[in-house]
Amino acid sequence: MYFYGTTGVNKNGNLEIGGVDAIELTQSFGTPLYVYDVALMRERAQGFKRAFEEQNIKAQVAYASKAFSTIAMIQLAEEEGLSLDVVSGGELYTAVAAGFPVERIHFHGNNKSRDELEMALDNRIGCIVVDNFFELELLNTICLEKKASVNILLRVTPGIEAHTHDYILTGQEDSKFGFDLQNGQAEEALKMALHFEYLEVLGLHCHIGSQIFETTGFLLAAQKIVEKMDVWKKKLSFEAKVLNLGGGFGIRYTKEDEPRPPSQYVSEIIREVKILTEQFSLEMPEIWIEPGRSLVGDAGITLYQVGSSKEVPGVRKYLAVDGGMSDNIRPALYQAKYEAVLANKPLDKPNETVSIAGKCCESGDMLIWDLPLPEAGEKDILAVFCTGAYGYSMSNNYNRIPRPAVVFVENGKAALVVKRESYEDLIRYDIPLK
Ligand SMILES: *Cc1c(COP(=O)(O)O)cnc(C)c1O
Repeated sequence: MYFYGTTGVNKNGNLEIGGVDAIELTQSFGTPLYVYDVALMRERAQGFKRAFEEQNIKAQVAYASKAFSTIAMIQLAEEEGLSLDVVSGGELYTAVAAGFPVERIHFHGNNKSRDELEMALDNRIGCIVVDNFFELELLNTICLEKKASVNILLRVTPGIEAHTHDYILTGQEDSKFGFDLQNGQAEEALKMALHFEYLEVLGLHCHIGSQIFETTGFLLAAQKIVEKMDVWKKKLSFEAKVLNLGGGFGIRYTKEDEPRPPSQYVSEIIREVKILTEQFSLEMPEIWIEPGRSLVGDAGITLYQVGSSKEVPGVRKYLAVDGGMSDNIRPALYQAKYEAVLANKPLDKPNETVSIAGKCCESGDMLIWDLPLPEAGEKDILAVFCTGAYGYSMSNNYNRIPRPAVVFVENGKAALVVKRESYEDLIRYDIPLK
């Protein structure tokens, strides 16, 4: 048994998060319920920031808000002095509505629409990460129309794809994102961008994958890009002020996962970029990173009410909860693995192995396979750990199941930050035939 952050067991023998009893949370706010440990999110943010500050490196730590984008979360990112990545008009709208400082917003995406680019320019956001030639030309056209300048980074694909336990070197990366670094696309894009008077090229960006445990992929990517920075300085007199190495830092979902602490990813990246820039006599650029999952993932816990069960003799026992792929699609989508306990008796010894099913009409709607658990029934609350990233943000209304509420807990207090959807909400956009 292990817990993250402020999660533990209180004197009632119940799971406690941020000093608040998990069972009381379900009584106040219902189930399923997303609960976030605010202190842990602050700690994660500060961990990344401190790692740069300790070495006096100019940096921006941008929260990749697609992991969990709500007004309260964006305000928390603001409080912690983070920057913010958005990947759509909707995420940008949320950030602006939350009052996030626009100069610290970065806009990503491989198919930003004219409307979205105009929205970004009208809001004078800090930087647009340009992904492809179509966007480069479109952005230039809009800037000319509006006589508006904008900072950009060019997203490049360095030919490195990182996965949880390994990374793949591909000469020419087969990816829908970015300008290829090896085949000359990136250089051509840079030449064009330098030629466009309203575009200010701050530097280069790459993002090599997600849930990465090793540092090697980041270091290799840095190496490939800094080599090109040297070429482009000589050839085009271009000096990158910013090197953005993206996000993808792994977290521990289960005992099998062994991520590095944020400080280790950061210090190894700094060390490598220092060595490389000294080797090529380049100015040390600002280093930007974009953690999403690693800022919010392990701070989130989903609480479910246990319901029906089904025994398949000699095969397995299914235990169903009152949510599923509508609030957490990651097991169905990526075979993602989670740990869970009964929130009302987290220390009881498991005496059976069960598989946790959702309530959606799909056989694939399973949350956890083969989970050791004490015998559980309708009075029990199941707490699934590490659901803070890509849970709520990928939630959906399949089977017309309303989205759960979200609460933030900190110092013994709970704050509702997203209301539970109602049945009326579900039919709000339906137009009757008569
Ligand atoms: C998704 C994404 C991130 C964040 O990835 P995590 O795995 O959540 O850290 C960062 N940068 C870009 C460009 C992304 O698309």
